[in-house]
Amino acid sequence: MKTVAFFLVFSAGMVLFSAFAGAQTSRETPSPAQARTDHTEQITEYTLPPEKLAKAEALYRTRTVLYLFGMIFGLVVLWVVLRLRIGPALRNFAERISHNRFLQTLIFVPLLVLLIAMASSPLDIYEHHISLAYGLSVQSWASWAGDWLKGEAVLVVIATLAVLGLFRIITKSPRRWWFYFWLITLPFIVLLVFVAPVILDPLFNTFVPLEQTQPLLVNAIEQVTARGGLNIPPDRMFEMKASEKVTTYNAYVTGLGATKRVVVWDNTARDMTTPEILFVFGHEMGHYVLNHIYKGLAFFAAISFAGFWLGRRIVIAMLSRWSEEWHIRNITDLASLPVFLLVLTMLALVSEPVNSTFSRHLEHQADIYGLEVTHGLFPDNLQVAAASFQKLGEKSYDYPTPNPLLVFWSYDHPTIQQRIRFALHYDPWDTPAGAKYIK
Ligand SMILES: [Zn+2]
Repeated sequence: MKTVAFFLVFSAGMVLFSAFAGAQTSRETPSPAQARTDHTEQITEYTLPPEKLAKAEALYRTRTVLYLFGMIFGLVVLWVVLRLRIGPALRNFAERISHNRFLQTLIFVPLLVLLIAMASSPLDIYEHHISLAYGLSVQSWASWAGDWLKGEAVLVVIATLAVLGLFRIITKSPRRWWFYFWLITLPFIVLLVFVAPVILDPLFNTFVPLEQTQPLLVNAIEQVTARGGLNIPPDRMFEMKASEKVTTYNAYVTGLGATKRVVVWDNTARDMTTPEILFVFGHEMGHYVLNHIYKGLAFFAAISFAGFWLGRRIVIAMLSRWSEEWHIRNITDLASLPVFLLVLTMLALVSEPVNSTFSRHLEHQADIYGLEVTHGLFPDNLQVAAASFQKLGEKSYDYPTPNPLLVFWSYDHPTIQQRIRFALHYDPWDTPAGAKYIK
């Protein structure tokens, strides 16, 4: 569970694009990506051998329970904060230290954020425990705790800035603050997406130019980019040293403008065959070419517009009903912040299926692009795509038949089964309409 609802909103845009999320059991044979093609039997659908299926089902059940529990837990924590009047206590403390509102905010927000983070930390700890138990993570607890602290520090900075802006705007425009605040968040989100790959991501992981570690792979990738009529310069391709922490396969597109780039995790480059990596890259290239980052930002702008409009109404309604009981003076009182967070969390929960559906749509487009851009580059590219999905699913114990409602509500990618079935039956080349993206 993300510790604070703020982070949900701020990270929503970026989360949309992580492509091959998942994990796998470790395979201790690092080797450079050469022209490897390990032909196994034809894939007709996503299947797991019995012992892996049992493990996948157990993991699926645990994660589903954790997900549902996390949803409720986040709301309960904020409700308890309000009922115990922790906001007013922190506000009084801040007011005793300084009469300056700016300084009070600098004291209040970090304390509140850290308090909520501490309350939510058992769930984070349990999640890491599960990842270790299933061999999906190899990260030590000390390293994990370091990342957790760094994440909270980033959150504190972003949240403090957001709160300073929010209350200033509410004071200036008590009726239309929701609109002005929405307007101001947009350039900040763009800035955040812009700096994420160069400032935030390197806090947690090491990135090296793909050309340094996988020169042969970069050569092969250039064939794919040429096929798509696109020039992604090699200095926009990076390898992430993911194997230090996880055993997961992943590749993703991130950044904006001058920082836009494709990142491949070293595990992916190590374990998959060259054609499989090229398909994965083709998928990521789809996100890149089809401007999914910009589309994601536009989508975020639209959905947060509705969210702020509705959010203001709910905050005001809650304050008019409970402000006395919660010892909140008015909407500009710092102590009202947990109410904002509660409303933000509720809105994030109800908007999740909309976000997920949009994300699944983009992922599906990227899959189509990946299938088309690799068509004719190597034999049987549909089978290669299916094999890469099978590998991804199998190594991450991805459960083959998740509940359709859960998929609709929370899956940011189509299921592995759906992706394999689509890939195997995708054949537009002999039809009159032809391919969708690569003519
Ligand atoms: Zn993707």
